[in-house]
Order: sequence, then C-alpha cells, then structure tokens
Amino acid sequence: MGGILKRLFIAIMLSTALFSSGCTADPSDSEAPDLKSPQADVQSERDDSPDAAATTIEPDPYLETEPISWEINPDYMAGMPCSGDFGWQVLGLNQDGAPAYLKCTPASSGKYVVDLSMPVFDPETRRPLVPVDVPAKTKFGYSPNLYIYPVISDREPKSALSEGSFDDYSSCKIAEVDDGSPDKSFGFPLPDYRAKLSSDFKILVIPVQFTDHKTSSKPADDLADVVSALSNFYERAASVPIKFNWTIPSSYYQIGKSIDSYNLDYEFDGTGGFWKFYQPYLQDVIDLVDDQYDFSAYDAVVIEEPRSVTDAEHGMFIPHAPARPGNGGLYSDEGQIMSLMVTGNDQNRDISNWIHEFGHLLGLPDRNWNMDINAGFDLMWGWYGAPEFSAWSRWQLEILQDKQVDCKTDTATSTHWLRPVAWTGDYQKAVVIPVSDHEVIVVESRRRQGYDALLGKESEGAYVYRIDTSAKMYQPDTKKIVDVIAPARVKLGGGWAMDASLKLGESVTSDGWTITVKETGAFGDVVEVKKN
Ligand SMILES: [Zn+2]
Repeated sequence: MGGILKRLFIAIMLSTALFSSGCTADPSDSEAPDLKSPQADVQSERDDSPDAAATTIEPDPYLETEPISWEINPDYMAGMPCSGDFGWQVLGLNQDGAPAYLKCTPASSGKYVVDLSMPVFDPETRRPLVPVDVPAKTKFGYSPNLYIYPVISDREPKSALSEGSFDDYSSCKIAEVDDGSPDKSFGFPLPDYRAKLSSDFKILVIPVQFTDHKTSSKPADDLADVVSALSNFYERAASVPIKFNWTIPSSYYQIGKSIDSYNLDYEFDGTGGFWKFYQPYLQDVIDLVDDQYDFSAYDAVVIEEPRSVTDAEHGMFIPHAPARPGNGGLYSDEGQIMSLMVTGNDQNRDISNWIHEFGHLLGLPDRNWNMDINAGFDLMWGWYGAPEFSAWSRWQLEILQDKQVDCKTDTATSTHWLRPVAWTGDYQKAVVIPVSDHEVIVVESRRRQGYDALLGKESEGAYVYRIDTSAKMYQPDTKKIVDVIAPARVKLGGGWAMDASLKLGESVTSDGWTITVKETGAFGDVVEVKKN
C-alpha cells in the first residue's frame, strides 16, 4: 500500500531487561466509497414478516456510533498553532466550535486543520456520522477511535458445523519461549508480575504540576477522554466482567521544581538511556504522595502532567513494568511498583497509544519491527486505525473464555462458525490450530463494527494469522513472532496487508493446514479447516 507512514518508536530494550518500555508504529491510509452494510443483512432477514413490505421506514443513512461525552480540550481548535510529532488526528473543534477531527499540519509545528477524510459529527448528539455503507478501503484514524455499536445478527449460517468439542485447550495455549523480553509474552500464561484485568481494576492517577507548568484545571477533566476511551476499550473487549475504577485527585500536586530540571526532553536515540532521567523524576512524584496512598491497593499507577507540557519537555510514554522485582525500579512505602504509566509524548493526545501501552502493563507483546511482518489487526501489533484486539490477545488476557475458542487438535476436516471479533457477549470467536508446542494458526472474523469502525470491505472477512512464541520480539530473527497468513492475491510488504482477510470461497494453506471460507454474512464467517 502506498502512502503508509510508519512510525517506529520506543521499541526499546533496556540492557538489563529489567524494565520494559513501549513502542508503537502507526500507519495511515485513505478511503473510498462502497457497497453494502451489516444492517442491510439484518434488514433482509426481517423480510419474512408479512408486514415488512408494508412498512416503509426511511433507513437511517448513518450507523449508531458512540457520541463524544467529554469536554474537548479548547486548545485543540482549527486554526490554532499545534505541535506534537505524531501528527495524526486529534479530536478537537472546528471553526464553529463543533467537534471535528483535526490534523496538525505540518506535524512538527503547524496549525490544526479539519481532517476532511474523517467523519463529521452531528453537532446535537456529538455522534460521529459514519455512513451505513461500508467503504471499499480501510481508513486510518484515531484519538479517539470511532466506535460502531456491534450489531448482533440473529441470522445463522446454513452450513453444517462440526460437532467436536475442540476443548483440549492446553494444546493451543502455547507457552512462551524465552526471547529476551520476559516482561511481555505472545504465549501462555502472561508473565507473572503483570497486572491482571478484573471486575475491580484499580488505577491511581498522580497528577503533578511544576514551577514552570502550573494549572488550575481539574485532572479528571484533563483525563476525561482517556478515562472514557481506555475503560470502554478494555471493558468492551471482554466477555467476562471487567471494570476500571479510577482514583483521580481533585487537583495537581505541586512538585516544587521545573519539569525542565528533570531533563525529560529525551529523544529516542537507541541507547535506552532515558531511565537515568525518568527514574529520579518518577521516584520524586511517588515520594511526594507516598503518605497519602497505599500503593499496594492499586493495580496500576498513572502519572499525569498538565496538558501544557510539551513533547519537547517530556518525550517518553513508558509502560513501566519490570519483568521481576529488583533494584533500579520505583518504590513506595508498600514496596516496589510493578505497573506504572509515564505519559509523555502526548502533547497531541494520543489515546490509542495510551490503550496500547496499557496493554504492555498487562504483559501483551509487540510485533517485531525488525522483521517484514504484515499482521494488520490488533492494537498491540501496531495498526491503530482498526484497533480491535485479536482473539489471541483476548484469550491471553483471559477476557475471551476457553469455550469461545475451538482448539483444533484432531486431523478430521471440520467446520467452524466465527462471530465478528468485535461482537460483545460470549460468542465463538476463534479457531486455533496448534502446529507445534510454540506455534499456532489462528482464524478470526473481522467486520466494520466496534472499534474497527474504519474497516473497509477489503479488510472484512476471515483473518488468518500465525504466532511463533520462539521468535524474538525486538531483535532481527529468522522467525516471525506474529504474521498474517494471506491469500496469494495479497501483495505483502509494507507491514499491514489490510486486504488479507479471506472472502467467500477463498483459502490459505500453512503448515499443512488449509483454511477455507465456506459461508459469510452478518453472522461472521464459517470456515473449513482441513489437514492436507
Ligand atoms: Zn508496544
């Protein structure tokens, strides 16, 4: 695909391997018009009803999308000066003061302009107006991602499904092989010291201001977009009850020093040397509030600075998640802090990055950016435009339940029904085929629903990918830690392969297995799995 902008930053490995830090890469691409929608399928099912023909309701040309419920930062306004090296969209205000996606042009030091490639908002409801028709091409955009409420179709496929129980899950939950990144894992289980999602996941925010950055803003207002988007993203990805409980003080703590005095103006240079500056800063912040909080009562800590702090002053967004307790970390009266987010490089609020880096606190991995990998989907694997978690990441997090996965361990040809991965509820979402004790093939269904709201027709279908937990995450390797298994028509290279999902009748073969789409619809995809 042309025009992809790939940003590769912070894929940092500290030499001690004790600390982790984040990494993202982001693409961008454009749009086009289209054909037909999931709604259209639902509508046609209802035509069995005798009244259907008589009822002429003008169809809503827009999908039900999530409205923006928080105050938009008034500094994000068309025409105003901007900076922030990401340069993607941020939710702001147009010249009339109505919500709009803005871009900073040029990215480094320019002005906000309305991004005309993104949906506009209904000024009354503050809903993004996403057309019912699915466009042909997948678009890239974020911060925050659009959300289309999933349409759970009651239509069922006609294909006969295999009766097997497919429940030898231990064969599919491949173990991690040590790849030098013990704080993250593509395998099972996630690393020991990582935070675990729960129905009462407690996040402590420590807002801190400086002599050169004072604010009277309320931290909860400044973070309203993050709190809403991050909570919703993880809670919606889960088919088990997940709830985030945020503790956000009513004002910023004053640290009594300038932010400049901490030398956080770190630009990634491959040395990983940032920690010698960040560690003293973060420890100062913890010391400042240590008397007031029992740190052992929280699953994760977020340190947040005033919105006026620039990327140049505070250059790093770091998920601090040591592989194991030890020296050189961050400590409260209650002991070492094992899950903490440092939220720099966020001058233009980058909510998808928050969600991605938070995933590292939970132990989720990155793709290997040293390798020619073309895995398009999953916020953790780098594509922020259609960020719904893969079924694999969900299963690792235990927010996809075993019963929602078919673990294919026999050699008989079998047929499986996969619901769109963005559907809420405990539906069947994946087939996993173990290839060895460290390799699996995964098949899931992608639709323009949920956070995949910018998915085009080219990306809808059965998505097949391969995981090798023996491959390295951050160093050149002969093996690929995750990669798409794409049909022959797909031109690989460029990192994303947004058109790799299998359409009706298409198949791919890998590791002696052939996966074929036998039926497709609003219900998802029915795939046949055959041993060659
Ligand atoms: Zn990352």
